[in-house]
Amino acid sequence: MSKFCVFCGRPPVDKNREHIIPQWLIKHTGRGKMPMVKVMEPDGTLKPKISYMNFTMPACESCNEEFSDLEGKVKPILLNILADKPVTAREISLFLDWLDKVRLGLRLSRVYLQDGLHQEPPHTFIKDRVGLTDRMLIIEKIKPQPDVRLAFPDTNTQYFKSAAGSFQFIIDNYVFTNASAHFMVSSKLGFPYGTHIETVDAPNIAIDDIVPGKKRARGPVFGNFGPSSDRILIYQPIFKPFISTDYKLYDNDYVKSHCIDFANGLGGIFYQRGKTNEVKYLNPDDKTVLSPAETTRDFKTILRGAYEVQAEMLAHAPKYNTSDARFNDYNNKLFQVMNWELQKTIAAHR
Ligand SMILES: [Zn+2]
Repeated sequence: MSKFCVFCGRPPVDKNREHIIPQWLIKHTGRGKMPMVKVMEPDGTLKPKISYMNFTMPACESCNEEFSDLEGKVKPILLNILADKPVTAREISLFLDWLDKVRLGLRLSRVYLQDGLHQEPPHTFIKDRVGLTDRMLIIEKIKPQPDVRLAFPDTNTQYFKSAAGSFQFIIDNYVFTNASAHFMVSSKLGFPYGTHIETVDAPNIAIDDIVPGKKRARGPVFGNFGPSSDRILIYQPIFKPFISTDYKLYDNDYVKSHCIDFANGLGGIFYQRGKTNEVKYLNPDDKTVLSPAETTRDFKTILRGAYEVQAEMLAHAPKYNTSDARFNDYNNKLFQVMNWELQKTIAAHR
């Protein structure tokens, strides 16, 4: 495979290396064993391939510099979250940008390792995926697991290797389950949303009929992942790709007063905390502590949640409707294989 920059997808200019998982984080959590990139063998077993500490991806020097700014900003934010210190909505938004970056980076690392059914060259890179679609974050706290202080347990599924719409990231005793897709939460948060999406010429999607929002936020917001006493749910609508083409739909007081940066299509941070279905809005400079009560659910159940989110994302993924019927057929079959694997894994975690 020819080398591509993990950020822009072009052949790397002034070659540079990017650590997908920052070294400071590996050191921070690295009292135990170093997390390994595991690759699936033909018999279905997972074999450790390389330590994340040594695992880098090619990148352009300029792309790497551009994103090192984000890395620098997110480090103190993440450390504050892990220390149960308050963070602002703007900071949460940056943290979500960073999760977009890590999620895509982990997916592209699979392409480099030629691990996965999807063998066509990738068409989405980190720059195409950071801060461009709605996102969600589930935050849970587990009993400290001495052997698991840094892990991404669900990144070995075929769904993740081909789409990477969601992933679970365990850091210390925090479990972050992050998902992102067009209009995933917009409608429930009262923002305009697309009613019909399909993939017409990957990576291009066709979105028909963006309709006005209801101008109020109401739960449940995403699938079965409702409020719970031991869970904090974070949502952010993002309309950057639509602000110019559908400006009239967005140009109203509700949307404008629930944004971090209206002109750039960056919606604000909404959250649910505790058992209530009420969805609250956090003003850009208001602070909150993202520390849910420690869960009484066991570790296996927490892991199952990651696969359940993947299955939910897959169920709502845009179907293929290109001019090539065989290509559509192939991809729709691939969806079935991914779903079969996810359902099997979910059952194994019951
Ligand atoms: Zn680049």
